[in-house]
Amino acid sequence: MLLVCPECKNQIDLVSYPDLEVGHVVECEMCGITLEVNNMDGDQVQVEIVDEGK
Ligand SMILES: [Zn+2]
Repeated sequence: MLLVCPECKNQIDLVSYPDLEVGHVVECEMCGITLEVNNMDGDQVQVEIVDEGK
């Protein structure tokens, strides 16, 4: 699965999230933003920003 941070374009490693599902939150370690998964379709993971972080 592939997830690119919408804020900093960092490619987030989803290996850390083996049980990722819609509604789960993922943190971008590059910019500290919190993203909530709102759709998963094959290899595409769509997220929305829930916390802008720093
Ligand atoms: Zn980021």
